[in-house]
Amino acid sequence: MKGNILNIERYHYTDGNGIRIMVFMKGCNLRCPWCSNPESQRYDRQLAFNKNKCVNCGRCIPACPQQAIYMDNGKVYMNHSLCHNCGKCVNTCFSDARILYGKEMSVDEVMAEILKERSYFVRSKGGVTFSGGEAALQADFVRECSRRCRLEYINTAIETAGAVRWETLWHGVEYIDEVLFDIKTLNVVDFGKLSDEPLQLVLDNLSRLCDKGKKVRIRCPIIPGFNDHLEFIQGVVKIALENGIEQIDLLPFHQMGSYKYKSLDKPYAYKEEKALEKDALIPFAEIIREKGIKCLIGG
Ligand code: SF4
Ligand code: SF4
Repeated sequence: MKGNILNIERYHYTDGNGIRIMVFMKGCNLRCPWCSNPESQRYDRQLAFNKNKCVNCGRCIPACPQQAIYMDNGKVYMNHSLCHNCGKCVNTCFSDARILYGKEMSVDEVMAEILKERSYFVRSKGGVTFSGGEAALQADFVRECSRRCRLEYINTAIETAGAVRWETLWHGVEYIDEVLFDIKTLNVVDFGKLSDEPLQLVLDNLSRLCDKGKKVRIRCPIIPGFNDHLEFIQGVVKIALENGIEQIDLLPFHQMGSYKYKSLDKPYAYKEEKALEKDALIPFAEIIREKGIKCLIGG
């Protein structure tokens, strides 16, 4: 069985308890315009060209069978519409200006990466978090990896927006220890801008996970002008109380992924928006904590 993996990152202190190894899966069925991982959205491989790192040596030009790379006035440019994402240019570049996002990995290969870090999981009570993209879309792969982790006594978490069929979601999370469940909006019209699935599917999935006894933590990205208002927070608190959920994390909008849009030649609707300071979310966190629910800002 192969997974479509974006990358595997070590030493994360968020996205679950303790120190985590993150397995980012490629492919997403949402279209959040503020996404900080735009390289994870497409299912297939995708080349990024970071112009800021390019020293205009031109070594990549003859490597490209598509003639997608060219030089003009001593500067190297790229025509993304010609690129077939073959990756032949990547190894010619010594400046890391070219990255091919996405690779197939077997369960054994991913497990080998996870097991290398076993000692720090044990010391920090950490583990593995499957993220994305939408990790639940590769439910077979996540299921097999998390089943193998359970046999190795390694804690697992998954980050999901829950906008998939219940059967798919449960198949993916059955052996997962904690579900980090993103809620981005409770407004049906706004949700329709992000997904082709109905908001009710997401809310039903959340309740069904809780009914099954799965440990669920809600996570809300707080996006200026989209959901940074009291009504949203109060609605999420209500859902948490109804489902016995003990923690809601607030993730302030940031700009850390903005350079990636440029390197992928994608428009970025939030490029002028300022990052939110953590302090700006303290009033929201207080509303959550007043109800006896734990709240981390940036969790
Ligand atoms: S990925 Fe392939 S097609 Fe795209 S620029 Fe590189 S060599 Fe050319
Ligand atoms: S090989 Fe790398 S540094 Fe050289 S021109 Fe191509 S992208 Fe730029």
